[in-house]
Order: sequence, then C-alpha cells, then structure tokens
Amino acid sequence: MRKVFPKTIWESAVDKILLTFDDGPTPEATPIILKKLEEHSIKAIFFCVGANVEKNPELTKQIVNAGHTIGNHTMYHRNINLFNYNANLSITLCSQEILESVGNELRYFRPPHGRIGLRTEKLMKQNNLKNVMWSLLTYDYKNDINIVKFAVDNFLRKNSIVVLHDSIKSKPIIENSIDLIVNKAKQNGYEFGEPSECLK
Ligand SMILES: [Zn+2]
Repeated sequence: MRKVFPKTIWESAVDKILLTFDDGPTPEATPIILKKLEEHSIKAIFFCVGANVEKNPELTKQIVNAGHTIGNHTMYHRNINLFNYNANLSITLCSQEILESVGNELRYFRPPHGRIGLRTEKLMKQNNLKNVMWSLLTYDYKNDINIVKFAVDNFLRKNSIVVLHDSIKSKPIIENSIDLIVNKAKQNGYEFGEPSECLK
C-alpha cells in the first residue's frame, strides 16, 4: 500500500504521537473531546465532514480557537472511489464550507472509510491537500473500551498517527480512550506532537 501511494502520510514525521478525530463536529462528542485535549495539553487534527460543519459552525470555531487543526473529510462522507461519484466536488465543497465557517484554508485530507484509490493523489494535487492515513486504528467506534485498550497496548508507537472518532458511536468511551493513550504514552516515554510538525 505505502509504495503505491508515496505522497500519502502514514505515520508521524517526527518521534511524536499525533491524535486525529474523524467525522465531526458533533454536539454530542466534540465538547467532551476538546475538554479532554485541553486537560492533557494536546493539539490534534479534526478531519471534519463538511455537512457537519454546516450544521455546527460554532463548534467548528471552538475547535480552531482551542488551537487544533481542521482537515478535510469531504462534504458527504462517501467513498471517493465510487464510480459515478463526483469526489472532487465533495472535497472542494468541504474546503469551501470550512473556509466560510472559520476562515481556514485546509492543507490535510483523510478519505472517508479510509478508502484510497488510484485517483486519490490526483485529487490531492487538484485540491492542494495532503492525504493523511494512520498507523493505529483504535476501533473506538465499536464502543468497547477493551478493544481500544488492546489496540493501544499492543500497537502504540512513538510516531503513531492515531485515529479516533468525533461521533455519537464513540462518544461513550472517548474520554477513556484518550486517557488510555495518554497513560500508555507516559509509561513508554512517548510525546505528543502538533499536526504541523507531525504531518510533513
Ligand atoms: Zn470518517
């Protein structure tokens, strides 16, 4: 996979962990996540869905005002490889929506459902975005803290890009999930990085 998509980012560029939150903003989960990140002084990246930004512009502003970065997760969260789907439009609309809501030009993209394909890097070039995948999937959306614990205990590395979700599904365990990662990182002497240093 990695050799087929040389311009895609899979892990942190420095020896620091990057936390990423997909699918928000949501009134249910975003405030909880922001509070937790503040408590641990961590700056993360939120790959937002344009339609959710449209519904929650104030929450989107809160994410930015707290010093976090916003990334593009398309307007409608459909697989961008689907035939007969205008992926370029969905990406452009998401960037426009966020620019209008918070005034930020986006630099990073994450494909919905993690689906990359032959068109992905061309789409990135057209939209002046960098494609960001991950090296640690926590499965937090399964809403089972034991699964998250297993993933973190076994697969957290000093340069992991970790995927979590800003969604109703993961909301019940999101605080515990962040705490688990922070505690494991402390045990191992790992640090957390900011998106700008981790995504190069
Ligand atoms: Zn997603």
